Amino acid sequence: MSDKNFIILNDPGKPKMTHQLIIAGNWKMNLLRDGSRKLISDLQKGYTFGSAMKVILIPPATLLGSIADQIRNSPFFLGAQNCHEERFGAFTGEVSAEMLADLGCTYVVLGHSERRTLFGETNNQIRARASSALDFGLTAIICVGESIEQRQAGLAMDTVSKQLEECVGSEANSNNCIIAYEPIWAIGTGKTAELQDIEEMHRHIRNVLIAKSATGNDIPILYGGSVKAENASNIFAVPQVGGALVGGASLNSQDFLEIIKAGQRND
Ligand code: PEP
Repeated sequence: MSDKNFIILNDPGKPKMTHQLIIAGNWKMNLLRDGSRKLISDLQKGYTFGSAMKVILIPPATLLGSIADQIRNSPFFLGAQNCHEERFGAFTGEVSAEMLADLGCTYVVLGHSERRTLFGETNNQIRARASSALDFGLTAIICVGESIEQRQAGLAMDTVSKQLEECVGSEANSNNCIIAYEPIWAIGTGKTAELQDIEEMHRHIRNVLIAKSATGNDIPILYGGSVKAENASNIFAVPQVGGALVGGASLNSQDFLEIIKAGQRND
């Protein structure tokens, strides 16, 4: 068995599943109701992969309620792009983990580099949000990744170690936490990290997780950064890669289905 096959996903209340790749589509601030309905309907028509993979749709907050209805009884899971650390209160414009759970979300992305760089979110906030997500039964998809300057200065590993140290609590396990390694310079740029660099960083993340949590060996680690139909199957074959966080290509049903299919080929 290759060591990419060690992943054991264990959703609360569900039987243990092995070898299940996770493909998460981050729509960012895109799509209105009509476009969203059509995209999901096309995905549902084209999805023939059973439970070999876990597919998570991560639309903007405005669409979560309608998508929750549309994907009921389908193989897709629902995630949000962020949440606030407090449960409720005077936080105008924010959405809490409890509100997301109430809508039918089971996942929430935290610490996406766009949130870190454009909105100043800190590691401490991300950790607090992950803890709140856990309180309301959501799995946190915690994003980490270095800038091009940090990589060129040889600081990629240290940067990611610090993010993991400060964002991931000791309570993290395979039921409540997923790590997404997204080198910032590869997001939305069409540039993908070299397979060797992806492997090296994923091994590094795995070692940090093992040192941090008793179940660190089981926490899935996704790669994100310009994943497309053409490069997905090579990326999925990299040891320790447990799936992908996909931005741009998740907005096109054919492209997203091709990426899902690439995951199946490696199963
Ligand atoms: C992302 O938004 O997390 C992402 C990886 O985007 P893209 O696939 O477009 O690079």
